[in-house]
Amino acid sequence: MEIGEVLITADEIDAKLAEMGAAITRDYQNKDLLLIGILKGAFVVMADLARHIDLPVEFDFMAVSSYGSATKTSGVVRILKDLDQEIAGRHVLIVEDIVDTGLTLNYLLKNLAVRKPASLGLAALLIKDGIDRPPLDMKYEGFHIPPKFVVGYGLDFDGKYRNLPYIAVVDDSI
Ligand code: 5GP
Repeated sequence: MEIGEVLITADEIDAKLAEMGAAITRDYQNKDLLLIGILKGAFVVMADLARHIDLPVEFDFMAVSSYGSATKTSGVVRILKDLDQEIAGRHVLIVEDIVDTGLTLNYLLKNLAVRKPASLGLAALLIKDGIDRPPLDMKYEGFHIPPKFVVGYGLDFDGKYRNLPYIAVVDDSI
């Protein structure tokens, strides 16, 4: 496996996160905002997006698994780590790295909605186009990308490449 074409550069990511952060800052004025990052992939986007949000936000994380080391979704979502706190009455924004089949977010939305937050929004850096998925009410989205397996900026291949500062396609043909 080799790293293929760079799809989105570090500068492009930063500019997009600045826009998303400004929109979040506007929308959640005077609201008590809790950001929930979905581990492991979203730790990078969470850290960089949060620094573009000019509000006293709080953080929590959930760890879920829907992929093994292969590049196809299993369709099964398991909670490996739940939230540390109650979210009843809180304004919650889920921060995700990438939406592929949407199974993970669909599961999480249902799981968190029953805990009665004041609001529940979704933010994702990457959305794969050309995928047949149930409609998701995405409040803040970064880039639409082709339905290819990508790495970098928190996204891994077999546990590696999360530290690349850009998003690149995986080239398995090499
Ligand atoms: P979904 O449930 O939307 O199919 O997939 C969500 C999760 O699958 C993402 O949070 C991410 O961990 C993983 N995933 C989906 N597409 C990709 C991809 O292109 N590259 C990598 N590294 N992970 C992906």
